[in-house]
Amino acid sequence: MAAPWEDVLRNEAAIQEAAAVAVDAALLEGVLMRTEAEPNASDVVNYAPFTLLPSAVPSALFEQAYAVQQDFNLLVDAISQNKEFLERTLASTIKVDDFTARLFRIHMQVLEEGLAQSVFLGINRSDYMFDCGVDGTPALKQIEINTIAASFAGLTSRTVAVHGRVLKVLGKPEAASRLLPNNPAKGLALGIAKAWELYGSQSAVVMFLVEKVQRNIFDQRCVENELWNRNIRVIRRRFRDVFEKGSLDDAKRLYMDGQEVAVVYYREGYVPKNYDQQNWEARLLLERSRAVKCPDIATQLAGTKKVQQELSRPGTLERLLPGRAEAVARIRATFAGLYSLDMGEEGDKMAAAAVADPERFVLKPQREGGGNNLYGEELRQVLEKIRDSPERTSYILMDKIKPQPARNYLLRAHSPLRVSECISELGIFGVYVRQGKGMVMNKATGHLLRTKAIEHADGGVAAGVAVLDTPYLV
Ligand code: ADP
Ligand code: MG
Repeated sequence: MAAPWEDVLRNEAAIQEAAAVAVDAALLEGVLMRTEAEPNASDVVNYAPFTLLPSAVPSALFEQAYAVQQDFNLLVDAISQNKEFLERTLASTIKVDDFTARLFRIHMQVLEEGLAQSVFLGINRSDYMFDCGVDGTPALKQIEINTIAASFAGLTSRTVAVHGRVLKVLGKPEAASRLLPNNPAKGLALGIAKAWELYGSQSAVVMFLVEKVQRNIFDQRCVENELWNRNIRVIRRRFRDVFEKGSLDDAKRLYMDGQEVAVVYYREGYVPKNYDQQNWEARLLLERSRAVKCPDIATQLAGTKKVQQELSRPGTLERLLPGRAEAVARIRATFAGLYSLDMGEEGDKMAAAAVADPERFVLKPQREGGGNNLYGEELRQVLEKIRDSPERTSYILMDKIKPQPARNYLLRAHSPLRVSECISELGIFGVYVRQGKGMVMNKATGHLLRTKAIEHADGGVAAGVAVLDTPYLV
């Protein structure tokens, strides 16, 4: 998997020069983030962390990841419409995990009332690592699929130009010309625009639901800009605003400050800390409305780790996607080993196996956003403590994926420039729109490569661990 610039990695002067160019290029291209010190001000901003060099990605695995994305879109959409599957799959989880339970209760309440929403918009990102088998052949293995607030579609479209510049500065213009164009933000906006159009009210707006701390606002603005360019009005609001000023009319049309809302795009609401009692009420109001939620609460639940684990059981994919044997095979080929820790013989066996050999596994709770999983000794200690208690069912177990590390420089504001052993995670963005029972859009719309130093087991870009990267196909 060697890239054609191994020689320059040892040339310190050239690396120093390229890093200075890279940072300026990132600022010029808009690879931006607000600062930790002032997370809600744009007066002072900095570059989002990124690699100095692109990372080598096997082209066959890259193509495989793109080729399976429409299948994953169909799968997530099918799960979201399958009340029995979600109910059965999450039954053990919601007994012990309050957050999932609350989401689930809203899901049930909305179904009982009858869905007012008839247009559905899914934006997801399926993440993978390249697992190095015993013979050294890398295989594409899914880490997870994010069905809510999948980020970095905007900023990642701007790293290509930065890495192209770096390669030219380092005397590798041919390598620069081989970097693939990538604009997932545009694809996301096309999906949102389609949903807005099908909602069918010219004067209605798109509402981005955003968090209190908005360091990653520029990533969101990239999607927003694409909508303004199509003359679609965008407003940014928080759950609290919805609680205070949101309302439904008799037809369950959603209004914010007197404006009808066609699409609610969540960049918030995926972790417990996003919610207090008022925010839960606001979420319920949004879910009951006719507005297109991206995602609706069923689709959010379809992205839980517990659902991911149940999908790996023999026969499950076949039941969810009847008559689609090829899609099922493509999806299954990306699965790593996933194991339930539900009470019973199977769970007992896996808990014992993980305590005996913690390096083989990752222990995952039903959380998003990075930094929640347990590894190695910590995994062993936690699991040993809860192995005979129902608490263990709030987790799933997954085989640990072991990619081949490669050397790169991680550029981060205020950090020294030094070489790191790194591994990468490839994400593919998927967008789909359904009206009633009919799919009207189903696409893979771009990719995201994130890279981190091997000493960190967990964590994404927002968590301060991984950095933005660009794939160089080999
Ligand atoms: P989150 O929802 O918090 O993003 P993930 O399942 O994506 O949860 O895990 C977070 C990070 O942990 C991933 O980005 C990856 O770096 C690491 N990770 C997760 N699962 C595995 C695995 N099976 N093998 C190796 N690393 C993993
Ligand atoms: Mg993740």
